[in-house]
Amino acid sequence: MKCSHSLTDSDSPWHTPSICLPKRAMLVPAMAEVGLAELDGQGCLVAVNGNFARLLGRDPAELVGTALAELMLDDDAGTAWAKQQLLLVGSGEGPLYARFHQGEQGECLLRLDWMLRQPPADAGLLLAASPLAGPMPTLINRELAAKVIEHTQEGVVVTDGRGHIQSVNPAFEITTGYSLEEVVGYKPSILKSGCQGADFYQQMFAELAKKGFWQGEIWNRRKNGEIYPEWLSISAIRDDAGRVEHYVGIFTDIGTQHQVQERLRYLAYYDGLTRLPNRALFFDRLQLELAKASRDGGQVAVLFMGLDRFSHINESLGHGVGDRILQQAALRIQAGLREGDSLCRMGGDEFSLLLVPIRDAGQVSAVAEKLRRLFTEPFHQADLELYLSLSIGISLYPDDGVEPDTLVKHASTALDRAKELGRDNYQFYTRQLNQHVSERLVLEQALRQAVEQEAFSLAYQPQVDVNLGRVIGAEALLRWHHPTLGWVRPDLFIPLAEELGLINPIGDWVLRQACCQMARWLAQGWNLRRIAVNLSPMQLRQRNVLQRVHDVLGTCGLAPEHLELELTEGAIMGNVDEASACLSRLSESGIQLAIDDFGTGYSSLAHLKRFAIDKLKIDRSFVSGVPHNANDGTIVATIISMARSLKLSVIAEGVETGKQLAHLQAHGCYEMQGYLFGKPMSAAEIEALFDRPLL
Ligand code: C2E
Ligand code: MG
Ligand code: MG
Repeated sequence: MKCSHSLTDSDSPWHTPSICLPKRAMLVPAMAEVGLAELDGQGCLVAVNGNFARLLGRDPAELVGTALAELMLDDDAGTAWAKQQLLLVGSGEGPLYARFHQGEQGECLLRLDWMLRQPPADAGLLLAASPLAGPMPTLINRELAAKVIEHTQEGVVVTDGRGHIQSVNPAFEITTGYSLEEVVGYKPSILKSGCQGADFYQQMFAELAKKGFWQGEIWNRRKNGEIYPEWLSISAIRDDAGRVEHYVGIFTDIGTQHQVQERLRYLAYYDGLTRLPNRALFFDRLQLELAKASRDGGQVAVLFMGLDRFSHINESLGHGVGDRILQQAALRIQAGLREGDSLCRMGGDEFSLLLVPIRDAGQVSAVAEKLRRLFTEPFHQADLELYLSLSIGISLYPDDGVEPDTLVKHASTALDRAKELGRDNYQFYTRQLNQHVSERLVLEQALRQAVEQEAFSLAYQPQVDVNLGRVIGAEALLRWHHPTLGWVRPDLFIPLAEELGLINPIGDWVLRQACCQMARWLAQGWNLRRIAVNLSPMQLRQRNVLQRVHDVLGTCGLAPEHLELELTEGAIMGNVDEASACLSRLSESGIQLAIDDFGTGYSSLAHLKRFAIDKLKIDRSFVSGVPHNANDGTIVATIISMARSLKLSVIAEGVETGKQLAHLQAHGCYEMQGYLFGKPMSAAEIEALFDRPLL
């Protein structure tokens, strides 16, 4: 647009023929640097001063008559806004910012201020222009806001006052997977994940109603079902009457931030090489377990492990091989643990293990021994077979310390000692425990030898029928005499034999000895009904138990009805179906079956009926209470009458006194065993009792 004004006075500060320059100049006395321009109602320059022309790098004469908007660049939102405002000449609020062509090539950024709010009717509009350095300031206007919303990375959703979606931006569509058409008219609850409860939303709405604003983290669901966390701000927009017209929600998908946080957490708490928890996490967990143990009165064990001579591998084969061995070692140890056991890498070749809950030191040494054995197999690396062993130091809470630091320090001391003692072993921090454990090790070694050398013997304890007044059989009881340890109690070495898997060969030996002895006695003409042999749960679980027993009977030439197997309640209740089938087969073959220590387990009557049992053996603990303890008396009487109603025979063990005998007899139990009639003794000794009347 070219205006119809023309230049008449090029030397005056105002290049215009028609306005009273001094009057106008008075209005801007301090604006020596400021360019001044007068515009007509169409936005054309009527007059400009020298500064104005200089700012635009042009000759003043060129400018007059030109529409100011035409001198502006048109590539940014601010300038576009300014152009638009120029059309409303004079009525715009605040300054305008616009980019102008400057001379032929350059450009400049100017701030434009309207000089007069209400100019005289005859005058044009006066504009002050000042140069701006730096970026273009932007005033968000409607158009710009729309652009901002369209391009922002934040998801934006606008609802009406009742919460129905009216519009969303592209970031919303990308984040949620829903297009505008799919959500318009729905409530934002379309995104609900179910992660937050009703309380959460109630609080959110209460705060929105009260303050008009809410922000916080919320987990929503995308269209594809994926749940993601977002940081959401909601503002209520009210009309002049204070009614909520809209709600605007702006959110950022913070899933990636969570991933970053997870990664940071991982780096802080895990070892990059083995992926095991690191020292820091170990201490955290230890602290937690100690607090729990102190509350519940439990015990905690800290096992500190070191790979023996690991530094040799690093030095001779390089750190690459060393690293891979560490990874394999970590996997090997991990595979040998229960779920929930906390294995960590403390650094270098050292690992630590947190065991909770623990019953006793024996259990801990079993784990340590198991871990040590994991290293008997070689590691394979770089075509090499590498043999490594593991040394372990152990400390126990609360005996060896109550603080994490102390326990770790003591476990580490114990590890040092294990290494001093030739590596490939474990050591407890406490001296006494150490002693106990080494005693067990000695016992273990001796027991293995005893099995190889069959260094056992049997004792026979008479079983009597008080009505007949004579011995009717015997229980075979295992004895072990060690050259240096002396007599070792069966309740000490039999559980150990079970633990070490040695009970089957031992049990076979007992059965053979006892059956052959019984066969000899019968052959000698003694009037005996049976020989009782204890059978451990593990023996019963052997697949071919029936075959094995019959092989022995065949070898010894003993009829099955002369053999009575004593089983504990635990042995048959462990695996009811299998045990029941096995007992039926044994019973069908003529072998007698008795439940030993009856009353100490958890057998229910209903269960008992399922088993092919012939006899209940009342436990010594009840017999010993008779007759002074009324409870024991009642239990004994009940067992006897229960046995009768189930058509089972009954025998009482541990009978030591005449009163006990009388009580049992009065309630209908006639078979007995106990010191009153004879302690366990040798075969020769018991033979002397066979033909002797009782008492
Ligand atoms: P059990 O089968 O209940 O054997 C009875 C135990 O009570 C025997 O202890 C016996 O010496 C003891 N006893 C018998 N009468 C009296 C008494 O009047 N007073 C007292 N105070 N004690 C009495 P022992 O020989 O030390 O055997 C302990 C346990 O070891 C046995 O308990 C049995 O469970 C197990 N056991 C013994 N020999 C064998 C065996 O050959 N195989 C298996 N698997 N376990 C066996
Ligand atoms: Mg027994
Ligand atoms: Mg018993």
